[in-house]
Amino acid sequence: MSEMPTIRSRKLEITYNIPISRTLKFWEGLKEGKIYASKCRKCGKLYFPPVADCGNCYSSDMDWVELSGEGEVEAFTHIIVRPVSFQEHPPYTVAIARLKEGVKALAWITGVKKKDVRIGMKVKLVPRITEDGRLTYEFKPMRE
Ligand SMILES: [Zn+2]
Repeated sequence: MSEMPTIRSRKLEITYNIPISRTLKFWEGLKEGKIYASKCRKCGKLYFPPVADCGNCYSSDMDWVELSGEGEVEAFTHIIVRPVSFQEHPPYTVAIARLKEGVKALAWITGVKKKDVRIGMKVKLVPRITEDGRLTYEFKPMRE
């Protein structure tokens, strides 16, 4: 007697282990309420989130630059169907903003009603410590 083939479905969880040794200052900065980008000392390209090696000229000679965090929303999306790792969160809005310094940042936007999020709205990227102790950053609307 042959068994019926079965397909087992289970939740897949992925944990990303990102090496932080060379971007430690970025994480330390978030704790201090600062947003750092990395800048290539050789070609001057600015990176956010920071990188340890320049993808433009392949130099590893990077400098740290504190960003104002101020920028303008260029794109946003309301996330209703969340990935597994965000199932416990209510629906949220993710935005991409171009910061004054010229780099683009992608982050959740909070402190504003979903219907009030607009292209071109002024936002500030601010560090945040989550309830479970993780360091992150998010956009807050700037009051004009
Ligand atoms: Zn470079």
